[in-house]
Amino acid sequence: MPRPITAIIHQDALQHNLEIARKHMPNSKVFAVVKANAYGHGIERVYHAFHTADGFAFIDLDEGKRLRALGCNRQLLLLEGVFSFDDLYVCQKYQISFAIHSEHQIQWLEQFSQQHPEAKFDVFLKMNSGMNRLGFTPEEYSQVWHSISQITIIQSITHMTHFSDADGERFGQDGIVYQHEIFESITQKLEGKTSISNSAAILRHSKHLQSDYVRSGIMLYGSSPDYPTHDIQDWNLKPTMSLRSEIIAIQNIKAGDSVGYGSNFVAEYDMKIGVVACGYADGYQRISPTGTPVLVDSIRTQTIGRVSMDMLVVDLTSIRNAQIGSEVVLWGCSSQGAVLSIDEVARTSGTVGYELMCAVTARVNFVQSQ
Ligand SMILES: *Cc1c(COP(=O)(O)O)cnc(C)c1O
Repeated sequence: MPRPITAIIHQDALQHNLEIARKHMPNSKVFAVVKANAYGHGIERVYHAFHTADGFAFIDLDEGKRLRALGCNRQLLLLEGVFSFDDLYVCQKYQISFAIHSEHQIQWLEQFSQQHPEAKFDVFLKMNSGMNRLGFTPEEYSQVWHSISQITIIQSITHMTHFSDADGERFGQDGIVYQHEIFESITQKLEGKTSISNSAAILRHSKHLQSDYVRSGIMLYGSSPDYPTHDIQDWNLKPTMSLRSEIIAIQNIKAGDSVGYGSNFVAEYDMKIGVVACGYADGYQRISPTGTPVLVDSIRTQTIGRVSMDMLVVDLTSIRNAQIGSEVVLWGCSSQGAVLSIDEVARTSGTVGYELMCAVTARVNFVQSQ
């Protein structure tokens, strides 16, 4: 029998969350962001639920090939653009649109244009409106736009930027303001469609931010981009991944006994504790401290002691009926429908839902369910 740890990917929740993105942005095309193997869910396991998305965005060309292999005929977007000249051949063959964020990518395109004048690409020109990762500065943007408009193999240019603070404030102002104003002031004077919003901007700023394409990521996977200001219930999102395992051993310990490596948890009173088949080699964070919430038989309790490679320990003192084989939910929902949000687990562990879902490892048994 395989170890009992399982990641259940909920198809109805994926579909539901995509509909929420659409409701917020009825006038935009909604791209599903499926980078990092669909935020750890597996592209093949989310594709069917997302097949009505207007397009898909990702970072790795292989992800685009996999989408085409699944029969996807929607627009595909490589968010960081190509990493080499040869990548342009892959983009041509699989009809993948791509971002252009730097001068060296333009040189590759010019070279490709000379060698393959019949090629046709739709590109997304990235403006660095303030995040300072990728893109052309607002000062140089118009000039770059004019110069790439001359490249004959480019058949459309969409203006694109990415927010650093759509989930909150920056310097006492709504976090989108500083970037949105500069982006608008420059792109208004140029032809072309626009793509700006990520999940936080879709949920929080749909009234003020209109663009032709939105790029929804984390919200589709049932995590709130601005937790704890809002949780997934506030946004009407559903968990799409449930990480579940089972109790494989039970110990009764006395006050003064310690638990696990480093003995960093010492019982203050007599306790019943359960050992769960889930450890950091499954992607559960080793850094998750004593007190991280879990559900046992749908009842909330908490981890105690250090997470080890293959196991962690939970407090069963108040869960009378817990036994070997009892269901443990690390995040997501229990088979009875109780919910433990990934955002809450992430926060206790000093990280975000994004990181937890991406970290689940290949040895976990993945299954799809309604
Ligand atoms: C990851 C990413 C997104 C999606 O962001 P979420 O916060 O997950 O919605 C959108 N645009 C770009 C450029 C990205 O890299």
